[in-house]
Amino acid sequence: MDTLFLLKPGELMLKGANRPFFMRVLRKNLSQALREVPHRLEDRHSRILVRVAEADAPRTADILRRFIGISGFSPALVSGKSLDDIEHTASLLVGSLLREWGTARYKIEARRADKSYPLDSYGIACELGERLGRRFPDLTVSMREPDFILHVEIRGEVFLYALAEEGERGLPVGVSGRGILLLSGGIDSPVAGYLMAKRGLRLDAVYYHSYPYTGREVRDKVQTLAGLLARRIGGLNLHIVPFTEIQVKIRERAPEDRTTLFSRASMMRIADMLAFRRNANSLITGESLSQVASQTPESLRFTGSFASLPVLRPLVGMDKERIIGIARAIGTYETSILPYDDCCVVFASRHPVIRPKFQEMKESFMGLGIEEDLRKALRAAERITIDG
Ligand code: ATP
Ligand code: MG
Repeated sequence: MDTLFLLKPGELMLKGANRPFFMRVLRKNLSQALREVPHRLEDRHSRILVRVAEADAPRTADILRRFIGISGFSPALVSGKSLDDIEHTASLLVGSLLREWGTARYKIEARRADKSYPLDSYGIACELGERLGRRFPDLTVSMREPDFILHVEIRGEVFLYALAEEGERGLPVGVSGRGILLLSGGIDSPVAGYLMAKRGLRLDAVYYHSYPYTGREVRDKVQTLAGLLARRIGGLNLHIVPFTEIQVKIRERAPEDRTTLFSRASMMRIADMLAFRRNANSLITGESLSQVASQTPESLRFTGSFASLPVLRPLVGMDKERIIGIARAIGTYETSILPYDDCCVVFASRHPVIRPKFQEMKESFMGLGIEEDLRKALRAAERITIDG
């Protein structure tokens, strides 16, 4: 027998005229996420139905649990339209729950999208309730505190389901276009990328690698993080940009207390150039207000001025504990805390400027004469495609 999953699309219900586009992206992402599970997708009015073989149900549920763009899903049974059919199918469902739980309180919520159906929602609930009550003495009705709700949806077919699981919510990845994530080996940037993917951005990630000052382990770590993120958001491209020459020139030519900000500014500029190449509409960082010297409002103004596209900083108002909570939930935390220094530790200012003066810093950066090096670094970038 097949197992059906009834999916509740998330926010896209709110989106009016864009709805067909959102649904198209959602379906495409679903097919991609389920590519290794033989399945069929069916549209049912405001729902999507995924039909898989019963043996594939557990791994399908695993995939749906972390799939971005649905607010929830339920394993469902399909029944014929007669009340006898509905009673029979409901008994299968209720019977299996009672075998597990012994007794249960429940209520029925019926919905009749097919208005030609002879009984109205209330009528269906009463009649079915009475029949189930006769069949299952261990089942009691509780309107206020049910252990489960038996949903009966009468459409072209009749769907019955009892247990709904929460989904990841968010907008389908891709409906907001593409963003460039500045991905370091730290805790914050993978979280930032994940949050923006949930707002519909498909991601390209860029990592600035300062070999041999930062070792091969850091690069591997970033690649692992990119892989973990890719699994959540349905794939991404990782660009690894050789950054050593730039760091060295900054160290040679800039006052020591400016090197951190100048290297951040360079990263921003390169990411902005990459965005145009990749047809992206925004940059994403893991910056959080005043977490470190390079993230004060004045510093953000300075580094942000090297991007022409909007710089999205979803963590800007979050404290570290909250960020760590999300990192744990998406499974990146354990990798992020592996103790390898990133380039910025090696080249960081010991006492960085905290409130950079904008004009003075801009001129000072121009004086470095590294514009061509920035372009050259981007040209030398290595691109790795990681499937979701
Ligand atoms: P994270 O935990 O994400 O590394 P952080 O708190 O360590 O952040 P910084 O090191 O100041 O903060 O970096 C701020 C942001 O700049 C990062 O979140 C990331 O978006 C970007 N960034 C820093 N270093 C790199 C790098 N080597 N490659 C790509 N992006 C970087
Ligand atoms: Mg960092």
